[in-house]
Amino acid sequence: MGGFYLPGLLLWASRFDGALVVLAALVCLTGSYTVLVVLRRAGMVQGRWRLFWLLLLCLSFGGNVWATHFIAMLAFNPGIPIYYDTARTALSILAAVLGALPAFALLLWRPAMRFAWAVAGGLLGVAIGTMHFIGMSAMKLCGGFSYNPAFVVASLVCGVMASALSMRAVRRTDVAGLIEASLLLAAAICGLHFIAMAGLEIASVNLVHVNVVILSPERDNLAAAIAAVSLLLLVASLISAATDAKLVERQLEAKRLWHLSRHDDLTGLLNRRGLRERLSSMTGEPLVLISIGLARLKPVDDLFGREVVDKLFRQAAQRLTANLTPGDILAMPAGEEFVVLRKQGGAAEDSLALAQHLIGCLSEPFEIDGVTVQIGACAGLVCSEGSGEGAESLLSAADIALREAKAAGAGQARHFTMAMSARLLRRHQLEQEFEAALRNREFLLFFQPLFDCRSLTLRGFEALARWQHPERGMIGPDEFIPVAEAGGMITALGEYVLEEACRVACTWPEELRVAVNLSPVQLKNPALPAKILAALARSGLAPHRLELELTEGAMLEQTAEVQLSLAALRDSGIGFAIDDFGAGYSSLSYLHRFSFERLKIDKSFTREITASPDARIITGAIIGLGAALGMAVLAEGVETEAQLNILRKAGCGQVQGFLLGRPMPEREVFNLLDRVAKAGGRAVPALG
Ligand code: C2E
Ligand code: MG
Ligand code: MG
Repeated sequence: MGGFYLPGLLLWASRFDGALVVLAALVCLTGSYTVLVVLRRAGMVQGRWRLFWLLLLCLSFGGNVWATHFIAMLAFNPGIPIYYDTARTALSILAAVLGALPAFALLLWRPAMRFAWAVAGGLLGVAIGTMHFIGMSAMKLCGGFSYNPAFVVASLVCGVMASALSMRAVRRTDVAGLIEASLLLAAAICGLHFIAMAGLEIASVNLVHVNVVILSPERDNLAAAIAAVSLLLLVASLISAATDAKLVERQLEAKRLWHLSRHDDLTGLLNRRGLRERLSSMTGEPLVLISIGLARLKPVDDLFGREVVDKLFRQAAQRLTANLTPGDILAMPAGEEFVVLRKQGGAAEDSLALAQHLIGCLSEPFEIDGVTVQIGACAGLVCSEGSGEGAESLLSAADIALREAKAAGAGQARHFTMAMSARLLRRHQLEQEFEAALRNREFLLFFQPLFDCRSLTLRGFEALARWQHPERGMIGPDEFIPVAEAGGMITALGEYVLEEACRVACTWPEELRVAVNLSPVQLKNPALPAKILAALARSGLAPHRLELELTEGAMLEQTAEVQLSLAALRDSGIGFAIDDFGAGYSSLSYLHRFSFERLKIDKSFTREITASPDARIITGAIIGLGAALGMAVLAEGVETEAQLNILRKAGCGQVQGFLLGRPMPEREVFNLLDRVAKAGGRAVPALG
């Protein structure tokens, strides 16, 4: 068929079976869609599986082009018998499959290459063309045939252009992109075929004997069979792409969840679980683990809110990262705590220097949303020589060291020692046993006498709690009071102490008072005043015989509400003393907010008073301050006559200490009271 004028066109069109042409187009469109779905899918796979998907891609592409071509050829009926050479027919499908290989490989492995879509599209166009012309060369037509070169060129241009545009469209991730790409690929395959067919020129009849597949009589059935088989192949590819995409989706989701469960969402650093796993994978390697605790965050939170605190964490993480070396690992296993993990053996001093450097970095001011924020930090370190300590035990060792560092004060760093963990274990055990001990009345009160400094007249006793533990023996308050404070048992213990102190004091002569220590934690309990008044009422002790001892720290932490209830207690006649004066905070502002009856000079000054002129000056100044503010002064911890004499000369009002009487159980108090009565009110007649 030479020219493309209307009668020629009609003659050309009359050579095709319309139904089969439609079938070919449908197969081609479905096939193209499948090929592109598989292409997108293959792009999501990594590693060796991508090769499998490349193969499936080439097979579905080759199968699609081949099936379209042969259904379209079955639709072609030039009015003379057609035979097909089996070998060439098979070769044609191979050409399509292999021809697609470089195109798809390029798209999968070099997707970012400039104009990869154009090159791949061109290659696909060539593959379609190669398949077509090899397929045509399998056709044995009586009389033979030739091509009009213009149509050949036009068909190839159509195949290459439409394929390239299809590869460009498929890069878009939306459904419209996929549909557009499918239509373009179908246009490339069908366009190339029918344009080339339009240029087919059939020569005069000339029967040839060949090794043939003869198709004419059952042409329609065969077309249906090819279509069915190719559709089956395409559907199978589609299903596998779709199911596998679900699998990949699930894998991606699992990966996302895995990441989330091992990282802190605020800073993106490893969380405790992630850190534990990382540590476990490093078993056997020498390493140092530094646990860094941030301090003074509460005021930042109170003043500026959570958002600023969150930003502070992020900035702190950045600061730490900037001060670490590339192999180090930074984690955030808990809020307010960072962990640095460094692979290294050797000197403990080096890791201590690193910890101190990091503390220094965190102590520099932070600028957040226009405000300047300053916090502090402490660090606990543990070094492992890789002798197989578990991740969890390393982490808890660092935590224990951090706890000790915090107790030692701001900016401190401590290396973990076994003694630390023994202390912690004991503390934990005491906490566990505390409530049962309260029920079993294992707590008792000792009473330490308080004397007039000059005359040594007995003035009263300070009640001091003891824990008579059935197995561990006598435990002192310095050990169990912090445990009770941290575990919330101090309220119950405090009530018990008050009740007991008032009960015992009632049995003493009228002029003697009892001093009871109050923990800052007890002060926060709004029910405290009522409890104290109730204890007094039950025992019948006159309020002026009770003196409550508060520490300087307790006074600084007070809210207005607590101050009001303290004032109410004082109005009822109860006395107040500042305990351990001079040992705590240097702020004295609380002295004019609340009036105390007594200042108790801390025993650390008394201890130094004989040897250190400074301690003498400070003690003298405290006594002067007390006198100026109308407060009585008592010196604690008097152990020697020399100390007593200096205190007397300095004008101290009262004294308490081992020299004059150690804390003693209730029954010994009665012996002392007997002696005192016999000595005319003085307890230690031997002393001047
Ligand atoms: P504190 O109130 O300053 O009590 C005085 C402590 O100094 C007592 O220790 C006492 O035994 C000791 N001490 C007395 N004279 C001397 C001396 O000459 N030399 C030396 N080195 N020490 C002396 P203790 O009984 O171990 O109590 C320690 C602290 O425990 C008390 O210090 C007090 O703060 C607290 N505490 C004791 N009982 C209670 C209680 O019932 N409730 C509360 N909240 N705290 C209590
Ligand atoms: Mg005291
Ligand atoms: Mg004291």
